[in-house]
Amino acid sequence: RFITFEGGEGVGKSTQIHRLADVLRRRGHDVLVTREPGGSPGAEAVRHVLLSGAAEEFGVRMEAILFAAARSDHVEEVIRPAVDQGTIVLCDRFMDSSRVYQGVTGNLEPQFIRNLERIAIHGMVPDLTLVLDLPAESGLRRAKARESKDATPDRFEKEELSTHEMRREAFIELTQKEPDRCKLIDASRSQDGVALAILSAVEPLLQQ
Ligand code: C5P
Repeated sequence: RFITFEGGEGVGKSTQIHRLADVLRRRGHDVLVTREPGGSPGAEAVRHVLLSGAAEEFGVRMEAILFAAARSDHVEEVIRPAVDQGTIVLCDRFMDSSRVYQGVTGNLEPQFIRNLERIAIHGMVPDLTLVLDLPAESGLRRAKARESKDATPDRFEKEELSTHEMRREAFIELTQKEPDRCKLIDASRSQDGVALAILSAVEPLLQQ
């Protein structure tokens, strides 16, 4: 099984992924938690470049191709082998982030994004995608609070509020277009409430 988590900045993806992983492991499942961009040694090297200042010199196409290159490595080296072994793979961001970040707010043609996606995922479509939804302003506030504690802001977190709002809309639209694969999760609730909503979206998949 392959489950991806999507959403804007500060929606609580990593907290919720780890909570879900704990619950599934307690129930006896093998679980692998991974993330994008990155997740395999080669893709982590590309992540480093993409989130650094150097990437400010890249055009949007080059950036999208690098995200796709990292994704392809991640799929072939890590995700597919684990899923084939029966492990439940939980991935923090995947192809839908590219549709939204590079496609919608990066202004790249849908055809270009679709072609890259097809090459990068090579059939590895998630069984379930959980889209954590939060007003852009609250997400940014959370992301900023996290930054002041640890890392310096990555360049994507320095953008305008309107850009983040546009992405939120795009994520919502995406779940409406593929309702079987994508579930919208209201992330404005308590952490426990969000965890419960996620678990009830995941459970039917485990019974199949
Ligand atoms: O998941 P996290 O927020 O840590 O992702 C790192 C950054 O990479 C984010 O700020 C996100 O904006 C960016 N990203 C992107 N396109 C993707 C995946 C992530 O622009 N396809």
